[in-house]
Amino acid sequence: MRVLIVEDEVKMASLIRRGLRDDGMAADVAIRGKDALWMAGSTEYDVIVLDVMLPDMDGFEVCRRLREDGVWSPVLMLTARDAIDDRVRGLDTGADDYLTKPFSFAELAARLRALARRGPVERPTVLRLGDLHLDPSSKRVWRGETDISLSAKEFSLLETFMRRPGAVLDRFQLLEHAWDDEYENRSNVIDVYVRYLREKVDRPFGVESIETVRGAGYRMRVKGGRGES
Ligand code: CA
Repeated sequence: MRVLIVEDEVKMASLIRRGLRDDGMAADVAIRGKDALWMAGSTEYDVIVLDVMLPDMDGFEVCRRLREDGVWSPVLMLTARDAIDDRVRGLDTGADDYLTKPFSFAELAARLRALARRGPVERPTVLRLGDLHLDPSSKRVWRGETDISLSAKEFSLLETFMRRPGAVLDRFQLLEHAWDDEYENRSNVIDVYVRYLREKVDRPFGVESIETVRGAGYRMRVKGGRGES
């Protein structure tokens, strides 16, 4: 298992490196965000330990750019104690986990092993199908340059579709993911909401992203209705 440690405080960085090596991991150190970007781009690290405070660009920016560059190595962010905003921001910019300083090596190593098990799977923070976008953290939906305003339920249903492009989803699966136990007990609730969604994300743009699959349910087209027949 090979780890990239991104930390500018030399003492801290070498302490972490020593700890991880003692645990049998291979560990490299980058002391600037810029170095982290090229190192992570040229070597497929199993996991990246990323400090928030760096001299050139902060950890959030590094994380955002890694994902933008198509680097999907799991990222664990090191944040200051009590900095809840930092943790939220880190996770929302594409980090997978965080640990607050000071931490125990046993916990750091265990978390890194757990993250490495996930592998470098593509998991963008903003979902995108064709020109249709959905950002789960800011609750924004837009097609091309146009913002689309959705109710909470419509948003939740669209997110369910966009997380499973091309898959046929029956009404039960859609209910299960987009509604909780207090859902409106109407057998046609999904059909009603699919109609609402089509009115907002498709019709004004002259596309059809949500397909009806007769006798089975619905399917979100993989290009969001653009350039698909
Ligand atoms: Ca630092």
